Amino acid sequence: MNFIKQNDPSVWEAIAHEQRRQADGLELIASENYTSAAIQQAAGSVLTNKYAEGYPGRRYYGGCEYVDVVEQIAIDRAKELFGAEHANVQPHAGSQANFAVYLTAVNPGDTILGLDLAHGGHLTHGMKLNVSGQLYNFVSYGVDRETQRLDFDQIVKLAREHKPKLIVAGASAYPREIPHEKFAEIAAEVGAKLFVDMAHYAGLVAGGMHNSPVPYADFVTTTTHKTLRGPRSGLILCKEEHAKLINRNVFPGTQGGPLMHIVAAKAICFGEALQPSFKEYAKQVVANAKTLADTLMAGGVRLMTGGTENHLMLMDVTSVGTTGAIAEAVLDHCGITVNKNMIPFDERKPMDPSGIRIGSPALTTRGMKEAEMKQVGEWILQALKAPEDQKTHVAIRTEVLELCKNFAVPAAP
Ligand code: PLP
Repeated sequence: MNFIKQNDPSVWEAIAHEQRRQADGLELIASENYTSAAIQQAAGSVLTNKYAEGYPGRRYYGGCEYVDVVEQIAIDRAKELFGAEHANVQPHAGSQANFAVYLTAVNPGDTILGLDLAHGGHLTHGMKLNVSGQLYNFVSYGVDRETQRLDFDQIVKLAREHKPKLIVAGASAYPREIPHEKFAEIAAEVGAKLFVDMAHYAGLVAGGMHNSPVPYADFVTTTTHKTLRGPRSGLILCKEEHAKLINRNVFPGTQGGPLMHIVAAKAICFGEALQPSFKEYAKQVVANAKTLADTLMAGGVRLMTGGTENHLMLMDVTSVGTTGAIAEAVLDHCGITVNKNMIPFDERKPMDPSGIRIGSPALTTRGMKEAEMKQVGEWILQALKAPEDQKTHVAIRTEVLELCKNFAVPAAP
């Protein structure tokens, strides 16, 4: 029985359309993925009914004996997966996880060094309108103009000059491996704590395709819904010495009751990521991104840093004579979903920047491999080189639909 359809047809109609959109199109948004049917079931389970303020064994509500079991499984698996001393699985999202770290590591007004949003950083790394930028004195580092890689000469210089209490590493749009050890050396030299936000590449860390920040950082956060392929949510990992304060700053510091249905979905996600098959997945994500990047570059497109070594690439679409907003819209017509994105040193505006960001995690989950990536890259080139040619877009849309039929999207019954 479909209760949503029966009880609330207008909501059902929108969900059904979204289901179709996800199945019939090529999802190339680098921060999205397809969760397993098991994760979807947990997220839609009766655990949504339960209040459980507190932590396993120390709750402010009765009736928590079963959700305690669920949360402890999630904690134990997160620690095992990342080799961490402590895990807090309650943050509702990545932003909440980051805020709890700031509350733990620094005081309002303190100086923090983080990656500039315009160079691939995240809103929570000091953007003026975000609470991080409002409460703390963020100093931003960037990437090198020539190589578009993290500019460590500048990072060292800024760290020595500003003596930050905290250095933030991690990015939302950076196509290269992040050298955590280098950040740790700089933090040690200037007496700062190190915080790594691995939201984008946590799945690659779990799958052994990216070096882990856990041995180097005082605090590590991640979202669980990107390369890690779990429900939309957050996670904090830290050394035991910070455990008590981190827990206090999640609850009651910044949140009330945890979303226990999502905590259960995270437990399943960590369990899936502990399976040998997840290593294969992570390897294929990187191989697929590389094939797509090589195909695009062979077609004359400029990619930031000259390619990728993780799950994403940042494409300068002005190199094929179009803009980020036009590229996003044209590809949308073709059934290919990407997001417009600023590129480093962009002279255009955020609503119509010079770039688009493309990622391989979702198509890899559907089972697509190098051959499909090459085909997808060719469609992208064809479409972007003919942004006005609707006939071409319709032809690509038809072929995309055919391809999608052979690669199912995981769905709960
Ligand atoms: N950190 C990074 C690096 C991100 O890319 C994101 C999301 O895009 C977040 C944090 C925030 O995650 P959420 O949207 O779950 O708050």
